[in-house]
Amino acid sequence: MNTVRYHLRLTFDPARREAETRGVFEMVERAAVDEVMFFVPHAEERSPGLGTAAEIAVQVEALGPVFERLRGMGVAPSINMWWTLSFSDFPNLPRDQRGTFPGFRWAVGLDGRVSRVAACPRDPAWRGAVAEMYAAYASLRPERIWMDDDVRAIVRADLHSPCVCDVCLAAWCEKTGRRWGAGIF
Ligand SMILES: [Zn+2]
Repeated sequence: MNTVRYHLRLTFDPARREAETRGVFEMVERAAVDEVMFFVPHAEERSPGLGTAAEIAVQVEALGPVFERLRGMGVAPSINMWWTLSFSDFPNLPRDQRGTFPGFRWAVGLDGRVSRVAACPRDPAWRGAVAEMYAAYASLRPERIWMDDDVRAIVRADLHSPCVCDVCLAAWCEKTGRRWGAGIF
């Protein structure tokens, strides 16, 4: 029994789908790959942050035939969810997501700064968008969906802090039985 699995992690830019598809299968045919895990909703370090519904739809449509062809070769296709909360902190890319997702309640840091790129994890609008994003990629029937490490107790992005917006503070106070300013932090 082979106890080691080789998971090839790849980016896949739907704007270059023909070249990207060629590249995927050139690698898979040469290597003893058990699984190919695709970074979504964008291409890893080239990602501007959270994906819009339109971007996700285009990528799911582009990945569909690639997933089918991989399955036909006995190679499991899967998903690496690069952004869930978003910590769009790489250089040379747009950093302000507020215009792209105007309905989100943005996270607030311990120093009172409001994030430009990450929503409050309790925001129902963000939760709805994330649920739709996961559902869209789940429709590809991936072997697994791996949430990457932006899902943390802190909003890494531009705050490096937990979210302490009014809603989060109220929830924390209810859970701990302590009031804001009474030594919670
Ligand atoms: Zn919050």
